[in-house]
Amino acid sequence: MAKKTVTNARSGARGQRPDAVDVVRRLATTFPGATTELHFSNAFELLVATVLSAQSTDARVNLTTPELFKTYPDARALAGADLTALEQLLVPTGFFRQKARSITKLSQRLLDDHGGEVPADMEYLVTLPGVGRKTANVVLGHALGVPGLPVDRHVLRVANRIGVATGDDPVKVERQLCDQLPADQWTLASDCLILHGRRVCRPTPQCARCVLNDICRYAVAGTRAPKPAPARTRA
Ligand code: SF4
Repeated sequence: MAKKTVTNARSGARGQRPDAVDVVRRLATTFPGATTELHFSNAFELLVATVLSAQSTDARVNLTTPELFKTYPDARALAGADLTALEQLLVPTGFFRQKARSITKLSQRLLDDHGGEVPADMEYLVTLPGVGRKTANVVLGHALGVPGLPVDRHVLRVANRIGVATGDDPVKVERQLCDQLPADQWTLASDCLILHGRRVCRPTPQCARCVLNDICRYAVAGTRAPKPAPARTRA
């Protein structure tokens, strides 16, 4: 059967990749003030909250962190936490034993290496327990003023459908998106794609009410969406 091709007045040529800057502009208008939905007051809190968000939801983490940071307000306190008591606090986030170990160990590392501060250093951050490139980018982009484009399962799914990225490798998709956007839009782009993936371009996409449906490859070509990417994203 002949494959449908992408033709669209705004995207111009057949099969042309939609303009990522236009995509981000439209989504930013749809989701004004888009940012991470995790609550935090400093880089350390965001780092810990993001580690806790793995295999959980931001809402669940936000219910847990007020008590957590009241009891253990900084890296020194968390590094010395009683593991059993800490695990009890983390039960609602799931995988609480593993997460308790990760956040106490990463706190100890921060204490040993940086006096308890979180450095704006991707190479260092990804060496911390429970921290992968996605988590490091979240912290760099939202709390340390360093452009970062976190790629989670929503970004993978939505970017592939729209046609601004190809593939299910988070590092490659991050690079593809960064190459199309100015650095000061990287974090915003991730936040917008995540919100869009949660609210509109869900696993079953709601294209009829989507602000991208005139440029999105999936909607324009009428193709089936690529399979949702497997959970390859590291923390
Ligand atoms: S048009 Fe449909 S597939 Fe494309 S981004 Fe919008 S909701 Fe997702």
